[in-house]
Amino acid sequence: MSVFGETAKLALLGSGYYARRMSRLTFPGVAVLCYHGVAPGAGERMAFGPLHVTAAAFEGHCRVIRKLCNPVSFADWQTAMDGGPPLPPRAVLVTFDDGYRSILTLAKPILERYGIPAVAFICSDPAEQRVLLWYDAVERLRGEDAVEQMKYAPFPEWRRLVQGTLTTADDADPQAVLRPDEIRALARVPDFAIGAHTASHVILARATPEEQRTEIVRNKAALEAWTDRPVTLLAYPNGRPGTDYTPESVDIVRAAGFTAAFSMRTGFATASQPRFELPRFLMLRAITAPDLAHRLAYSWYR
Ligand SMILES: [Zn+2]
Repeated sequence: MSVFGETAKLALLGSGYYARRMSRLTFPGVAVLCYHGVAPGAGERMAFGPLHVTAAAFEGHCRVIRKLCNPVSFADWQTAMDGGPPLPPRAVLVTFDDGYRSILTLAKPILERYGIPAVAFICSDPAEQRVLLWYDAVERLRGEDAVEQMKYAPFPEWRRLVQGTLTTADDADPQAVLRPDEIRALARVPDFAIGAHTASHVILARATPEEQRTEIVRNKAALEAWTDRPVTLLAYPNGRPGTDYTPESVDIVRAAGFTAAFSMRTGFATASQPRFELPRFLMLRAITAPDLAHRLAYSWYR
């Protein structure tokens, strides 16, 4: 990933080098970090484990964000986009995709300790049905290859396969999703926002416009009913332009009453970018705290 050794980065972080360099930097836009779940430790066997950072690694990231950058909330950002007070230099927005329960149990106490706002993009069907997200269920039953094969099946076939693999999960399951009452409670945490991620984590590009609209509108309505808050932000499942969502999907999201949406393109989110395809930086388990500091100070910044 980087030509720079981990030991060197650790030394640079410890010596305050990154902090000194970054105190002079202004990011070209907001660094929106895309997390998924948080794992209690590295030992746990989890489907798509690299997407679940350990609690210890997440705490390290939060320390870097608090020390070297300026964490902002979606409300701060929205205000700035609408012509209000500008964001501070080196603004970072922490986001979580999918709606794992570990956001509440493991991430939230750490976020609060460092005073870092966050957004959680949530699929409402698994939350309502108390089941695993479809790809976690399929991975457990048939392995990761089966997920990849299923992912891009035409919508009706995908839907049938998903129905056939529904797997209930109790709250103690490390990959359990948030319950509706917990989503409601999270929406009431200051500086914590709830966003949409489709009802069932469908690949929008494989669905008809009507099927896409249903997935998007049903998800928004469920989240708004549970939280009593308007849900105005969306992240496209998987999020690769063309492959996972299309210009048609963007039009549907805009028409459904959202104010902005995130893709999985990589980069800083700036005011000049299309507001319904804002980029993010994907956060993986392998990214250590010194690694994050190095990326923020150098590799991403370039
Ligand atoms: Zn997702």
